[in-house]
Amino acid sequence: MSTPVSLDTIPLAPKVLLHDHLDGGLRPQTVIDLARAAGYDQLPSERADELGEWFIASADSGSLERYLETFSHTVAVMQTHEALVRVAAECVEDLAADGVVYAEVRYAPELFQERGLTLDEIVCAVQDGFREGERRAAEVGKSIRIGTLLCAMRQNARSAEIAELAVRYRDVEVVGFDIAGPEAGFPPTRNLDAFEYLRQQNAHFTVHAGEAFGLPSIWEALQHCGTERLGHGVRIVDDIKVDDNGGVQLGRLASYVRDRRIPLEMCPSSNLQTGAAPSIAEHPVGLLADLRFRVTVNTDNRLMSHCSLSSEFAVLHETFGYGWTDLQWFTVNAMKSSFLGFDERLEIINNLIKPGYASLIG
Ligand SMILES: [Zn+2]
Repeated sequence: MSTPVSLDTIPLAPKVLLHDHLDGGLRPQTVIDLARAAGYDQLPSERADELGEWFIASADSGSLERYLETFSHTVAVMQTHEALVRVAAECVEDLAADGVVYAEVRYAPELFQERGLTLDEIVCAVQDGFREGERRAAEVGKSIRIGTLLCAMRQNARSAEIAELAVRYRDVEVVGFDIAGPEAGFPPTRNLDAFEYLRQQNAHFTVHAGEAFGLPSIWEALQHCGTERLGHGVRIVDDIKVDDNGGVQLGRLASYVRDRRIPLEMCPSSNLQTGAAPSIAEHPVGLLADLRFRVTVNTDNRLMSHCSLSSEFAVLHETFGYGWTDLQWFTVNAMKSSFLGFDERLEIINNLIKPGYASLIG
């Protein structure tokens, strides 16, 4: 007998997450504890429930200033080795509790140097935390593996240095590189050296593109930078025409993205908060999934969006009527699109994902 799909049962399904920011997923109580330890007195509240509400309300406010302020607090409390280990370990525990079996978690090392940590010390601390989190998850019977993506911030012009850092740690679960930060005024082509270097090194990378900014950003990320995946990529919908009779016409860029199976790291709740989509029902994820683009579903910032991968799946189930087969399709898409080796991807698909959904479908 099939298990009904609901917010209570979706955590039982094995899930794969490709787009999750470490500094966007802290527990409110951890923010408070770390702020106390660091002598940081700028938090808007010292109570975990109130602080959690404040993060969501600020991210929801429609003001970019307030949205960015949320990260000023999380980043401020992540400036020591101990803080980074704790945040990374708890991130893995939270994802494992949600039924995530493989995740690529990203962060920008250059943001955590305010108290003198070197880039290498930062990477080592986070890797230690991820391994600790995997151990704690295993102790409670959860299987999870974390790959790390190192981000460079578009506006800071340190992308070549961060790309080298990612390659230096590629053998210890740093699986790729990303470029994040404001799209407008900072086209990905400003960082061509980094992308050129990564390609020479046969390294993997994704690019935040087509979130707020339109098709040119997606085109540059693909055709100038050579990205393997698109972080968000929602605006690809601007290159798709749907007529009144439901006829669909893809432009050349949209066709390229679909034909080449370019993975879209879609983050529905986050897109609502930043105004990249007006509602879940109107979010391009529905159309793009219908058209069989390589759609993956992601959380982006679990603290600010008050979401988990299960809650994102639940919202899509409620809005578009997706069942276990669809949720499995998103999950297999994500695993196929991960930066792990091909044999490792297949192993997770065959040994964890397929049997997991089969038991729910019944
Ligand atoms: Zn993101």
